[in-house]
Amino acid sequence: MSRKPTELGDSQRDIEASPSETIKQELLNDHWRHCYNWKGVSPVKLAKMRGCSPEDVRSMMFEIQKKYPRPKRNPQTGRCKYCNAEIVWIGKHPCDPPVLKGVTADEKVHAFRQSHFASCPHRNEARRSS
Ligand SMILES: [Zn+2]
Repeated sequence: MSRKPTELGDSQRDIEASPSETIKQELLNDHWRHCYNWKGVSPVKLAKMRGCSPEDVRSMMFEIQKKYPRPKRNPQTGRCKYCNAEIVWIGKHPCDPPVLKGVTADEKVHAFRQSHFASCPHRNEARRSS
């Protein structure tokens, strides 16, 4: 007696993780890979894709956030595609690597990096395309 492809498909589906487990795993993977970039993902969109309720997705996100506090992340480094200088990405903004010290209006010292757009010899070109 041979099994029909549809039967095989059904039995495979049984051993797959439930949609909520899949989302949880995806959120967790994304959490580590992108350091919280999943926050930018709309829970509604994710829920729709996986057939869950947005409330479930939101509570999963909060659960993960609570369980795995934000890691101190190493800055993403790279090179400016216009002048080939070393740059450090702060979010989506290219900055120069040296950490500078500045004083705020209320006289608190804070560390910051200068935007690479301030020092890039091709800054106009770079700025336009970003
Ligand atoms: Zn540059």
